[in-house]
Amino acid sequence: MFHKVLVANRGEIALRVIRACQELGVKAVAVYSEADARAPHVREADEAVCIGPPPSNQSYLLGDRLIEVARRTGAEAIHPGYGFLSERAWFARAVREAGLVFVGPPAEAIEAMGSKTDARQLAIAAGVPVVPGTTEALRDADEAMAIAESFGYPVLLKAAAGGGGKGMRVVREPHELAAALGAAQREAKNAFGDDAVYVEKYLDGPRHVEVQVLADMHGTVLHLGERECSLQRRHQKMVEEAPSPAVSPALRARMGETAVAAARAAGYVNAGTCEFLLDRDGSFYFLEMNTRIQVEHPVTELVMGLDLVQWQLRIAAGERLPFEQKSFVPRGWAIECRITSEDPANGFLPSTGRITHLHLPSGPGVRWDGGIEDGSEIGLHYDPMLAKLIVHAPSRPLAIARMQRALRELVVEGVETSRSFHLRLLEHPDVQAGDISIQWLEAHLAELTSAQPDDDTIRRAAVVAALAAQHDRGQLAAPVHSAGAESGVREGWRWQARRESLGQ
Ligand code: ADP
Repeated sequence: MFHKVLVANRGEIALRVIRACQELGVKAVAVYSEADARAPHVREADEAVCIGPPPSNQSYLLGDRLIEVARRTGAEAIHPGYGFLSERAWFARAVREAGLVFVGPPAEAIEAMGSKTDARQLAIAAGVPVVPGTTEALRDADEAMAIAESFGYPVLLKAAAGGGGKGMRVVREPHELAAALGAAQREAKNAFGDDAVYVEKYLDGPRHVEVQVLADMHGTVLHLGERECSLQRRHQKMVEEAPSPAVSPALRARMGETAVAAARAAGYVNAGTCEFLLDRDGSFYFLEMNTRIQVEHPVTELVMGLDLVQWQLRIAAGERLPFEQKSFVPRGWAIECRITSEDPANGFLPSTGRITHLHLPSGPGVRWDGGIEDGSEIGLHYDPMLAKLIVHAPSRPLAIARMQRALRELVVEGVETSRSFHLRLLEHPDVQAGDISIQWLEAHLAELTSAQPDDDTIRRAAVVAALAAQHDRGQLAAPVHSAGAESGVREGWRWQARRESLGQ
């Protein structure tokens, strides 16, 4: 095992990797921008080095500087987390050429899966089904028109270099195609410096189901079952679960074998994820491979009972996977909610400010992977995901109930968050029945964000009324709704919330 690893990331994933290092007896070196000087990952690491000003292109994206810091601090390996440099083949190569270990796949595998068109070609060659569409960039609108006609509307234009839903356009009518192509190309050029756009058939109502794989350097490639990630807004996941309510053991085995075939075709090593669209008729199509640890990895960890980040480090250090495929059977149910600093009542506008009060949920089956604490400053430099709340329970209904309980316990004051949106989402009968698709959340957004008072407001009002009644009966010394009694209201409201969750 390594003696020391540099963690080239920030926020919750940096902390996650540091924790994995500590449990393996490996020293962790954190890096941070000036905006993150007081961030928890800086404090928790064994050493920390400032790498530049807040903008990520002057700090977390400076590959050469990260390699230099690794050398200077005596780290033997670099863990890139997700985002930032994690899927940059040039960085993986530069790390290797510097005589260090990149905790992830070889640069060649990142390259093979890096462009969506290349990945589609590779998948087709390996016998892996892909969504009908092209495997080359479109030359112009005429070509796009001819291809779209051949498999019928709607179609989806996608940036070959795409990620995070950028450079994607759904086209429902032929007359929209030329303008959409121009827009997708411009967006792709801006986001990725590459305007290559291709076209796929737009599937109606599929699920996003992805398969976790682990591969060692000695030829063992295993799959760890699937994650259901259909609850998405603007092609960005909001809630994930494992297993998927739509996947039977037989389908799990077929999707798993397909993911393993794709990983083998790319010469894959380390942890990776094959994303699929699962159609209503049970057919599934390879979308892409994410060549890194994913945000939603904890749900797999909880149902499969292993630490994926520790295995990333062990694989990178040359260890063999000691498991057999048949030992991976999901146990119970896990759900993850992404807690973001966005205001659902305001079109998910990013919210900034200082976290003035943070109360974390706990109790059986609750896990918090966060990068914030009391006093954290939330700015606009980085991704709005503050933390992930993850639960594990024996069944899906119990996992939903546990997540609802944990979300109610969570208090984040100082910035708006997605917490109350998640509560409403989990109350919806379709979500409770697992009857969802990738288009479900967008179709129900208005209903889920409508201007009804959220549950906190209702609870606060009930508490103020109850305490006022007690006061009237002479049981309290002072009216709590007078100025300066905010904390009294908060305490009472939490107490009332607990009574409600106990069914009192
Ligand atoms: P990105 O890399 O930008 O995240 P993906 O190819 O992974 O792009 O697709 C993101 C999301 O867009 C998917 O999870 C799915 O919800 C939707 N999507 C992608 N391809 C299709 C398709 N052919 N039909 C319908 N929806 C799609």
